[in-house]
Amino acid sequence: MAGERVTVVGAGLMGHGIAQVFATAGHDVWLVETDPAARASARDRIRQNLFRMARHALVEDRQIEAVVQRVVPTSDLARACAGCDVVIEAVPEDLSLKQRLFSDLGRYAPPRAVLCTNTSAIRIAEIAASTKGRERVLGTHFWNPPFLIPLVEVVRTEETAEWAVEAVYNLLARAGKHPVRVRRDVPGFIGNRLQHALWREAFALIDAGVCDAATVDEVVCNSFGLRLPVLGPVANADLVGLDLTFAIHDYLLKHLNADPTPSTTLRTLVGKGRLGFKTGQGFLEWSEAAMGSIRERLTEHLMKTLAERKRAGDRPASS
Ligand code: NAD
Repeated sequence: MAGERVTVVGAGLMGHGIAQVFATAGHDVWLVETDPAARASARDRIRQNLFRMARHALVEDRQIEAVVQRVVPTSDLARACAGCDVVIEAVPEDLSLKQRLFSDLGRYAPPRAVLCTNTSAIRIAEIAASTKGRERVLGTHFWNPPFLIPLVEVVRTEETAEWAVEAVYNLLARAGKHPVRVRRDVPGFIGNRLQHALWREAFALIDAGVCDAATVDEVVCNSFGLRLPVLGPVANADLVGLDLTFAIHDYLLKHLNADPTPSTTLRTLVGKGRLGFKTGQGFLEWSEAAMGSIRERLTEHLMKTLAERKRAGDRPASS
């Protein structure tokens, strides 16, 4: 068994997968969930994920039951926090819910336990506003599915102590994740700021009638999207030359969208109840078969990529 005792709060899409990551690394994990159905299904969801990963040699079949048994679902937050070393909060993206929870965590967890939030975009300091011992509060932003996407952004506030950042960074690296340090507590951190800058421009192009929605994805998936696994924007700028990048920015940036509010098309679709996969219609039309197929292709793609990296002996993180 690995050293630290981990408590994950919320057993939804993210929480059950985060619990799986730490249990696979040998940690005992309490998984706190208020909804009885989600609590009852958590171990089975983890088991199914692991069976599928075993088909790609990402875990061994004979490990699976031991990993599942290391995760203990409970509704008792105080009991799950007693004696824990790290708490990862993964309850819905609702500031007042997270604030109340962090106030409880501050009282229930031992003083040296590090309290982490998996918020997608909210500033960590806002979540920690009424927590006892704010020096041990930080963000650990996992990506969905957390057991397949390597990155975790470790976000510090002005009050977070260095020991807390290092403890969590090292814990994540040992669990096979790829942690990065985010030095300032800005909304959206790094990944979601980049992702939503791209989405804002995509939706603005649709608003302006430059192309239809399907064409946006066709362009991305058949051009720079193909390079991204090898070449991020910074290395790409260096590759094409910074003089060229400067010239393009000097001409183009003033034409890009900089609206501080959501796009008109997005607002209209949401107003009509066209919410995407949830309703079968969004920017595009989605049949059950099409949704199933894209989910399947994405999971297979992620598993194959991870398996390839594992075979190549990729180190998860640089410290
Ligand atoms: P989810 O709705 O699937 O799961 C949240 C779970 O928390 C639910 O099962 C709910 O019953 C439970 N819960 C609610 N209040 C609780 C409480 N007080 N104590 C214990 N459990 C409680 O949500 P999700 O998609 O897993 O998102 C969780 C967090 O992770 C959010 O902050 C979200 O922004 C963030 N996040 C989500 C994604 C994603 O792709 N879904 C990616 C990165 C980060």
